[in-house]
Amino acid sequence: MIPHHTLSGQPTEQMPDWQTELANAVTDITELATLLDLDPATLDPSAAAQAQFPLRVPHAFIARMRKGDPNDPLLLQVLPTDREMLPTPGYSNDPLEEADANPIPGLIHKYQGRVLLVVSPACAIHCRYCFRRHFAYADNTPGRERWQQALAYIAADTSIREVIYSGGDPLAANDQKLLWLTEQIAAIPHIKRLRVHTRLPVVIPARINKACLHWLTATRLQAVVVLHINHGNEIDSALAQAVAAIRAHGIIVFNQSVLLRDINDCPNILQSLNEGLFDIGVIPYYLHRLDKVAGAADFDISDTEMHAIYRQLLTLDSGYLTPKLVVEIPGHGSKTPLTPAD
Ligand code: SF4
Repeated sequence: MIPHHTLSGQPTEQMPDWQTELANAVTDITELATLLDLDPATLDPSAAAQAQFPLRVPHAFIARMRKGDPNDPLLLQVLPTDREMLPTPGYSNDPLEEADANPIPGLIHKYQGRVLLVVSPACAIHCRYCFRRHFAYADNTPGRERWQQALAYIAADTSIREVIYSGGDPLAANDQKLLWLTEQIAAIPHIKRLRVHTRLPVVIPARINKACLHWLTATRLQAVVVLHINHGNEIDSALAQAVAAIRAHGIIVFNQSVLLRDINDCPNILQSLNEGLFDIGVIPYYLHRLDKVAGAADFDISDTEMHAIYRQLLTLDSGYLTPKLVVEIPGHGSKTPLTPAD
């Protein structure tokens, strides 16, 4: 069922409850194959990969996959395969060494001026290339009392100007919790901005409801939303309306993508994605080199291929439509821009 919103973010009568959609996400390969008119055997399902990082994909996202196509670029992002279980040199469980930047449960402090809060351990979708697929969520899911430790840490460091809600997916948390946490952060005078990194409005656009828009906007903090979309086929009218509802409240919406083999490793696919994003009011922001997380090696491409794709992409569109190509290097004070070799 396609959700509907008005531009002001007011739900219409047809709008389904996002939590129901979340609970009804598909976790069974046979069900997914049936919905896509595919023979489950052609999907080469992997029980081992499923056990490590289960299949999870909401119906609203499945509706954007091409039926009968086992190579659909949205399907390939969520399909567990046996290849994930092959150990690959250079790939690890914590490729960004975040364990070293995790001084308080639920808080990661990697960059000067910004801290990241693991607001929810859950995601609506399980992306096979996720750099946090092995993250120690059990040690980083504080309740309200333990959040006080993280809030005290932020309050004690006046160099911090921006708090980033992350996860998991922060919008998997309920709006009461998000309202409470946002109020606590807004009470810290040196915090200016609240950034929300989320894929939930992409995979369940109904998540952008009145209660969500309330805590995002009923705060003195300048909110910024960063979506995660990798392919133009992920953009549909329901997502466009969710983005419009966010933007109607003066919130800037960016997008970051990951460069993924067989999904978007093509200048024309990336150009189409960037055009599609801008058409719905989203600014393409970062194109990430894949983080070398164990299980994701299949999605990687060589440096030579990456630079060739990006060089071509630069010629296809305006500079403001072209995201920065970056990589995250553990221990570096920021993302590292990758300049294509001539
Ligand atoms: S954190 Fe983001 S990339 Fe990772 S599984 Fe969740 S939605 Fe996907």
